[in-house]
Amino acid sequence: MAQLTDDCFAFDGPLITAADALARILGNLTTIADVEMVPVSQALNRLLAEDVTAPHAVPPYANSAVDGYAVYHADLNADADTILPVVGRVAAGRPLGRPLKRGEAVQIFTGAPMPDGTAETGGPDTVMMLEDCRADDDGTRVVLRPGIKPGANRRLAGDDVAAGSTVLHAGSRLGPSELGMLAACGRTEVLVRRPLSVALFSTGDEVTEPGTPLPPGALYDSNRYAIGAALQSIGCAVEDLGILPDDPARIRATLRNAAARHAAILSSGGMSMGEEDHVRAAVEALGSLNFWRVAIKPGRPVGMGLIKSETGHKAVLIGLPGNPVAAMTTFIAMARPVLLTLAGAAVTEVARFRVIADFGYKKKSGRREFVRARLDGRDEATSLPRAVKHGRSGAGVLSSMVGADGFVELPEDDTHLEPGTTVDFLPFAEVFR
Ligand code: AMP
Ligand code: MG
Repeated sequence: MAQLTDDCFAFDGPLITAADALARILGNLTTIADVEMVPVSQALNRLLAEDVTAPHAVPPYANSAVDGYAVYHADLNADADTILPVVGRVAAGRPLGRPLKRGEAVQIFTGAPMPDGTAETGGPDTVMMLEDCRADDDGTRVVLRPGIKPGANRRLAGDDVAAGSTVLHAGSRLGPSELGMLAACGRTEVLVRRPLSVALFSTGDEVTEPGTPLPPGALYDSNRYAIGAALQSIGCAVEDLGILPDDPARIRATLRNAAARHAAILSSGGMSMGEEDHVRAAVEALGSLNFWRVAIKPGRPVGMGLIKSETGHKAVLIGLPGNPVAAMTTFIAMARPVLLTLAGAAVTEVARFRVIADFGYKKKSGRREFVRARLDGRDEATSLPRAVKHGRSGAGVLSSMVGADGFVELPEDDTHLEPGTTVDFLPFAEVFR
């Protein structure tokens, strides 16, 4: 496994934009996830760890794109019907078995190989669709209309992919199309990254496991479930370390132990300057910790650092804020790109979409705001989706995340938004996939 440099999260600056923070951090990181061979049928959503080249042309042979008749275009009259003898039929997987001569037509079906020609004729080059032809009753002759272009309805060998060309790049996520492409190239196995192993825990004496009684002054742990699911959705293998009390010795022991077995450790809560925030002290005792004050709202400082295990293995520590919405926002803005980089993803940015803000908004300059919004219908003038702001906006209001489809993302320089403005939208469906 690759090793990270000790100072990869070093930072002592003041407020920093999310883009600057990521540029600095990601530049210091490398992929650390190991690789493994897996069957193509089991590679859905895995990160590719090799460049894949096509060992042969796809499709491997020239074939017909329609049902119809294959002919030499040069045999067709330019302005009148042409009558040609039909000398046979070729179906998919069943070639004609002899070269087609000039002046002949052959019935052909979608995907069937174009018949060969001879050295002089080169072979039929055009297929006329069944609907545009008229075969006589016994099928021995066909009447072909004028006006078709040479090469029509013929797919050449390599029309999709040329032999030897790169069809997939290392670092890409394998979706259905990519798995289909691997199979089209004849592959049965593919080299992928092992899922990044991540340990996850919550902290706080008030934080209680669902399924157990709720004492006064306590609340159920939502972060471990939301962040655990977010980690799974980006392909991490999560070990659940449960809830740790605000007890420095316990936190330290858990961190040291987890650092030996995991690439990364994620925590929520216990990271601010308050007296009861013990994660911070524990991490500082075991390695290095830096606070990144990223200019996003909702958000809080994100702690990032390295923890050394007894074996010398370094695990990345990411300390998210405790407030549920701030935890999710900072996960999306900071933890997700960091983890995806460690996991071997080439692209860590989420695709944004343009939508029309159906609301007005005022904000402070200098920070990026993530406004929870749902999509509702389309704007008449532009036909872009319309984003409706959720009614609640606190950093602890998890119901506002449930009630939203994503974030309207307002850049640092904006101070106010007029209703009807075109804005960027960050769909949760793109973030967590
Ligand atoms: P902290 O960052 O520990 O100061 O926590 C900030 C706020 O988030 C407090 O109101 C906590 O009760 C709440 N909180 C912390 N951890 C969790 C959690 N795992 N699930 C739900 N709420 C939490
Ligand atoms: Mg706490």
